[in-house]
Parts: sequence; C-alpha cells; structure tokens
Amino acid sequence: MNNIDFSYLKKHFSKKKNIVITTHRTPDGDALGSSIALYKILKSDGHQVNMVVPNNFPYFLDFLPFSSEAIIFEKESKKGIKLINQADTLFFLDFNSYSRLDKMAEHIIASNAYTILIDHHQDPEIKSNQNFCDVNICSTAELVYDFIKKMKWKMSKESAISLYTGIVTDSGSFKYPTVTNKTHDIASDLLSYDINHTSIHKKLFDSNTLSRMRLLGRCIGNNFQLFSKYNSALIYLSKDDLEKYDFVKGDTEGFVNFPLSLKGIIFSVFFIEFNDGIKISFRSKNNFDVNQFARLHFNGGGHKNASGGKITDLNLQETIDYFISLLPKYKNELTEFKV
Ligand code: 5GP
Ligand code: MN
Repeated sequence: MNNIDFSYLKKHFSKKKNIVITTHRTPDGDALGSSIALYKILKSDGHQVNMVVPNNFPYFLDFLPFSSEAIIFEKESKKGIKLINQADTLFFLDFNSYSRLDKMAEHIIASNAYTILIDHHQDPEIKSNQNFCDVNICSTAELVYDFIKKMKWKMSKESAISLYTGIVTDSGSFKYPTVTNKTHDIASDLLSYDINHTSIHKKLFDSNTLSRMRLLGRCIGNNFQLFSKYNSALIYLSKDDLEKYDFVKGDTEGFVNFPLSLKGIIFSVFFIEFNDGIKISFRSKNNFDVNQFARLHFNGGGHKNASGGKITDLNLQETIDYFISLLPKYKNELTEFKV
C-alpha cells in the first residue's frame, strides 16, 4: 500500500511547514525514537514542528534527546488540539489505526492537513496522502531512516541516537527474524554519528527500578501458568499486584518475553489489569501468528510475532479463562514444529 512520491514531498517541504508528528499511545522506543529523529531534522530545516503523543512514554526513554519536548495529549489536551488544528502537515509514525491515538483520534481525523504515514504494522486502516509502509521491516525507525535519506535530509547525532534506539527496541536487540543485513547497515551508519551505543543499551535495559524487579518476581514466582501441551505460557499482574509493588508506567515493558525464553515455549502471553480493562501482550516464535490471534479474540493486532489487545467486558480471571479455552483450537499450529 505504498504510494510515496518523494519528488512531490521534496516540493511540499521546500516551503516552511507547520508540522505535527504523532505516534501511538504509550510510545515505545521505536515510536518515540522515530518521532524525535524527524522532529530534530525538520526543526533544523526551519519548519515549525511539534510532537504530540496520546499519553506518556516509559521512564527509561527519558534519556532520548528532546523527549521532554513531546506534548502529552492526556496532560495538555488544549494545547495538543490547538497544535493539531493549526498543522498543515501531519506525520503518523509506527501505527496504522486511529484507535491507537485514544482521545486524540477525533482531532486528527477532523484535520485537513496533508498526511504522511510511515509504519510497519499489518492491515492498515489509515489512508494517508503519502504512505511509506512495509510490514517486513522490523522497525519504523528503519523506514524513517530510508525516508530521511530519500528526502536528502541531513542526519544529526540526536536523530541517529533516536533511530538507533528505535531499531534496538523493535528488533529485540537485533534478534528477531525480521532483522536483515540492511538493518545492520543502517545501524552501522548511525554509529558513525559518534553515538555511544553501550550507553543507549544500558539506559534501555539496565535501568531497572526496584518496583520493576519486584513485579517481575511476582509474575515469575506466583502469577505464571505453563501449558506444555501447547508450548505456551502466561503471566499476569492484577490491580492489587500493581498497587502492592508500586507499579509505574514502563515497569512491565518486556515482561512478556520472559516466558518465551523458556525452552520449548513458542507462545507467551502477559495480562495486566488496569482500571479501564485488561491489556494483553502476545509474543510468539516460528510461524504462530499472534497478530491474527489478537485480532480475532482480543480486539487488537500488531505483528506476526508481537501483538497486543484489550478486554473491557471481562475481569482478569475471566480473561485468562477465555484465553485458556482458546488454546485447544490452536493445538496443531502450536505444536507443528519441533522446538
Ligand atoms: P505490546 O505488547 O508491546 O503492547 O505491543 C506489541 C505490538 O502489538 C506492538 O507492535 C503494538 O503496536 C501492537 N499492539 C499492541 N496493542 C495493540 C492494540 O490494542 N491494537 C493493535 N492493533 N495493535 C496493538
Ligand atoms: Mn514499531
């Protein structure tokens, strides 16, 4: 669904524009990194640029340059609405359905601005004026890198740090099958901007708080169920757990990967209970398609091996029971390969 016309875009950006860059709720390293990379470059080019994101991002992304300049719509909605209404150009990064913008969605939909979508999720719902999308690429940051190169814009150190962060987080530190030699070529070029990759990895992965460690202990020690027959495992956290262990946003990032590190497990699920519903994360290995699974059963979506969803009409136990009741249907797919 690509219809990108770089010569048209070069003309478009040859005049000073009023730009809003936006991304999905609870921005992750790829979402925020991609946004900041474009923000810095466009600002340096003399455009008026703002990043407006639906809600806050996890604390371990605070280190990203200019992250404090992102306007959090949930906290500053009046300002956010004004900026969206004034914008003549909108960038949509790392998402492809308006539902992932929460309350910001209606204002984005109402805008008459020129829209550019850069994304790597499946089954796009958003139709933009320009679409630069590829589901085979492991991070939006790689697409933004290509976009910057095609536009002949000048990379900066801050943008390189942000794109490198996006690639590292969305590729599982260069682990996922979607990583290619091109991913490494891009990372190699980004390193040439004098970025400190060790420090980036440390800030992303060695910045655990005590509350995170304790929440993880709770998950692994108590709130864990193994389904050997289906090569699957689940973990969960209840509202009470979150309160007891002083949960802050970002604490549970990556938890869903722990059951997947068990030998033989190809399908891992993490349930977390919030006041407004149960958020679910799915991860898989091999061919098991968790995008389809989340779409069909949990009002969600994402990628083949990483997806998410939400349930608002069942409690935590009912949601888990519902999930368990689905497993027998998938027995063949879950046991198809020797692991
Ligand atoms: P996470 O488990 O980290 O929240 O999300 C994993 C992947 O699934 C991400 O790429 C994210 O974009 C996607 N995802 C998470 N939640 C949802 C959802 O509710 N709807 C859709 N369409 N995608 C989601
Ligand atoms: Mn992404």
